[in-house]
Amino acid sequence: MARVTAARGRVEVDTMRPCSAGLYGAEADRAASLRGRGRRMGAAVLIVEDEFNIGRLVRTYLERDGYEVLWVRSGEEGLVELGRHPIDLIVLDVGLPGIDGFEVCRRVRASSTVPVIMLTARDEETDRVVGLELGADDYVPKPFSPRELVARVKAVLRRTGRQQLPAEHLSCGAVELRRDARESSRAGVALDLTMKEFDLLSCFVEHAGLALSREQLLERVWGIEFPGGTRTVDQHVAQLRAKLGDALTIETLRGIGYKLVQP
Ligand code: CA
Repeated sequence: MARVTAARGRVEVDTMRPCSAGLYGAEADRAASLRGRGRRMGAAVLIVEDEFNIGRLVRTYLERDGYEVLWVRSGEEGLVELGRHPIDLIVLDVGLPGIDGFEVCRRVRASSTVPVIMLTARDEETDRVVGLELGADDYVPKPFSPRELVARVKAVLRRTGRQQLPAEHLSCGAVELRRDARESSRAGVALDLTMKEFDLLSCFVEHAGLALSREQLLERVWGIEFPGGTRTVDQHVAQLRAKLGDALTIETLRGIGYKLVQP
């Protein structure tokens, strides 16, 4: 299982195209989707983490579990986004450029009861105490396992009564997916999907009718642990098409990626 550690050495820099509110590229798209949440999926989690690898890994795991995720790199941006979107929980790193996580937590608590889980690179009791005194709901020391963090997110949402369970059951046309049991079926007949095919189809079903780039699919389904390229996405889409037959149509969007056609 992957473990997150504090970044050492070179910090990988996201390819960013600037846009309003300090959000970039896919993150701006996510912000737009949070604002216009019609088909509400799981709870919306705001990640405030400046370390690229950790932020991306946490985002990948949360999205894979059905949460909607918005990720910013600084506390200042986090406070701005908190005021703009219906956020259900904040995953907040302590060590941030600009104001630190404690200060962010203090400011969040001045106006909001949104649950906060703090991340810190140090396993020091003082940090934990400070965080909890400031009103944080939980505390996860780095290094941590992404699965453990997801479990804490789920537990805090449940405890604070903000539980928006991620959709465990997804359906599209005759195809049904049970994320908790990792079962998939077409008109009641089991589809024999591999783990990645299942995750890929879940991602398509959650975003039915929307264009998804190969890069978005790669990141959401494979995450950062996967060293391969977007060709893998093409291969898995081909496999999915073969297994789905005429149950669902995954369109190729030239120069963009793919779209699951709403049946
Ligand atoms: Ca940090």
